[in-house]
Amino acid sequence: MQIIPAKTPGFVKSLFPNLVWSVNTGKKELYLTFDDGPIPEITEWVLQQLKNYNAKATFFCIGRNIEKHQQIFKSIVNNGHSVGNHTYNHLKGWKTATDLYIEDTIKTQKLLYPDIKMLFRPPYGKFKVSQSKQLQKLGYKIILWDVLSYDWDSSVSKKMCYNNVVDAAKPGSIIVFHDSIKANKNLTYTLPKILEYYSKRGYSFKGL
Ligand SMILES: [Zn+2]
Repeated sequence: MQIIPAKTPGFVKSLFPNLVWSVNTGKKELYLTFDDGPIPEITEWVLQQLKNYNAKATFFCIGRNIEKHQQIFKSIVNNGHSVGNHTYNHLKGWKTATDLYIEDTIKTQKLLYPDIKMLFRPPYGKFKVSQSKQLQKLGYKIILWDVLSYDWDSSVSKKMCYNNVVDAAKPGSIIVFHDSIKANKNLTYTLPKILEYYSKRGYSFKGL
């Protein structure tokens, strides 16, 4: 069930102006993001799809997955994509003490390469104000989204997933996908179609 709207309402964005919801641009550019990897085969498949369209994207990686799949992580970076921090253990911010949450994030940051930008996306898109404040103090840019594909939701059909994106995306949109096992069914249908649809209309795909 789609509880959160696929398109983030303007009033939500204006309540939290310090968070990044979309990129302010008049150009035909989209910002695809992939959360929860790296995962063997799935992340590699995503990289190949992006390559087919000369598209760049941003991968919000889970620390424990980077540790398990270091070669795949390396190929994300070597392919010129951006990467961001998605905590080490995919923590639920509202259920985790702030000091533990920050510790978990720093543990992941150590697995990222030193010259990588400080981007952070909270798992589930939720965290405490104290956590977001601390992260911003540490220098993180916190990236939410403008469009949710709902690729992970098994009650959302492949076509609905595709429509969620096409109905909501506009220049500068930050769009959420997942390179995860759960999302794989919807992702393998939707991603190539999105890349094709927007490429044909003169869009380019960029990393954050
Ligand atoms: Zn996640």
